[in-house]
Amino acid sequence: MASPNSSAAGNFIREIVEQDLATGKHSRIVTRFPPEPNGYLHIGHAKSICLNFGLAAAHRGVTHLRFDDTNPSTESVEYVESIQADVRWLGFDWGDRLFYASGYFERLYEYARQLITTGKAYVDSLSAEEIRKHRGTLTEPGRDSPHRTRSVEENLDLFAHMKAGEFPDGAHVLRAKIDMAAPNINLRDPTLYRIRHAAHHRTGETWRIYPTYDYAHPISDAIEGITHSICTLEFEDHRPLYDWFLDNLDVPCHPRQIEFARLNLTHTVMSKRRLLELVGKGHVHGWDDPRLPTLKGLRRRGYTPEAIRAFCEHIGVQKRDGTIEMALLEHFIREDLNRRALRVMAVLRPLKVVIENYPEGQAEDLSAVNNPEDPEAGTRTVPFSRVLYIEQDDFREVPPPKFFRLTPGKEVRLRYAYIIKCTGVVKDERTGEVVEVRCSYDPETKSGGPQAGRKVKGTLHWVSAAHALDAEVRLYDHLFVKADPDDVPEGQDYTVNVNPNSLERLTGCKVEPSLAGAASGNRYQFERQGYFCVDADSAGGTLAFNRTVALRDSWAKVEKAQQE
Ligand code: ATP
Ligand code: MG
Repeated sequence: MASPNSSAAGNFIREIVEQDLATGKHSRIVTRFPPEPNGYLHIGHAKSICLNFGLAAAHRGVTHLRFDDTNPSTESVEYVESIQADVRWLGFDWGDRLFYASGYFERLYEYARQLITTGKAYVDSLSAEEIRKHRGTLTEPGRDSPHRTRSVEENLDLFAHMKAGEFPDGAHVLRAKIDMAAPNINLRDPTLYRIRHAAHHRTGETWRIYPTYDYAHPISDAIEGITHSICTLEFEDHRPLYDWFLDNLDVPCHPRQIEFARLNLTHTVMSKRRLLELVGKGHVHGWDDPRLPTLKGLRRRGYTPEAIRAFCEHIGVQKRDGTIEMALLEHFIREDLNRRALRVMAVLRPLKVVIENYPEGQAEDLSAVNNPEDPEAGTRTVPFSRVLYIEQDDFREVPPPKFFRLTPGKEVRLRYAYIIKCTGVVKDERTGEVVEVRCSYDPETKSGGPQAGRKVKGTLHWVSAAHALDAEVRLYDHLFVKADPDDVPEGQDYTVNVNPNSLERLTGCKVEPSLAGAASGNRYQFERQGYFCVDADSAGGTLAFNRTVALRDSWAKVEKAQQE
């Protein structure tokens, strides 16, 4: 597997493009990203977007955004709009090169008539079931349909009446006349047009026949002057058909189809059908649930476009399918946020601390560094007072070995403040649980003070109780408990691997007051806790944060373990 420290993985498509420019085969490259508007984009699409737009941009070429909207029943304007927003968010611009396969319906129809006229297409009136039976198998050739020998005139006439909406769905189809015995099943007279009495989100009721993807795609590419038509590996077996259409039609050019491996990530699923199912069955809360690999989900989780682009660049482009560790994607967002997220203090599971020798009613402003990675980020003040909160985990009445945090009789440093010493605890009389920790502080240990450099083993984050803001924090774990969600017992499906603990919602968290009014989408590092992003839910009042990723770089650990 590629590691983030080695140079980026190869990109064989870049090499093809560079060669085509060097030999003069093309003077300018034109690529396209062709989503079907039947779902939201996910991180796999991001790989394709970065590849298509990135490749063109790097060679002063252009990229078209083309909606492959040939299936009226599953597509909608909502998806068209959300896909555009997501591509823009990722940082790519198609300028005025926005196209729709449906925009070519008229021309696709004329090209189909051309195929009929040259004896290369015919109207078949077998039922879908009969067509399937005639198709043969991988080991047996198919059989010709009895309608294969219809005359050109009859085919043209039937096709025109199909278009006019005179037949019910399924009564006829238009098929290419290629070879029913071809070893490649895609060449056994594939379907070009189906009758479908359905309204299309752009063309309305105009069309009663709709072209198939296999037919519409190569022609759309040719009409637009695409030079390199990049698609995923499942289309490799369709390439002879792609070429057949372009060889047998009077099209302006013949783009080259190049296939690459889909992106698969561990602990998640990427197919639109499955994403739809997860949303529909309530395993997650909508398309932008921060646990999903959709771009909307990743964005809400706190991922940046820069991190996703760097990840895509790093993984490169392969010719064989594989699966990338989720930890690698997490590594890239951590790297990015480490550079630019402001550090703040937030206590997720608060435990009250009273500094007995600090005067009641007093408060002071201490100076804290906003981002040690970025000197320009400056400093801010955080208020200190007699009553504070620390994490419950940072105190143990009876400490385990090597516990360097707060414990009776021991000292710790409070980040940007003083060294404190635990002098006692207050317990809930009924449960025996520690509800308050009593401490004393050493005024000499303040930053800049005479004892500022005194060494203690632990440094804790904290907030002042009187000044802190309430917050809700959502912690996320993998959506699937297994790296491969399809690793299931016989007879079960991938949903049995859905992680029941993928979301932990903490209420009653306390965050430092500098976060007042933090805008939705802002990203921070909560010291010692990870990177967090303000959720849109905060608009209601209480601040809500999503943890993007924990601090620990599990990728670094994976790498280290591999080297050992
Ligand atoms: P799904 O299988 O999730 O339904 P799709 O391939 O049907 O996806 P499209 O809208 O047709 O989705 O995809 C648009 C483009 O994105 C296509 O060129 C497709 O090859 C590419 N793409 C889709 N999924 C991935 C992926 N996981 N990795 C890389 N490219 C992808
Ligand atoms: Mg598709």
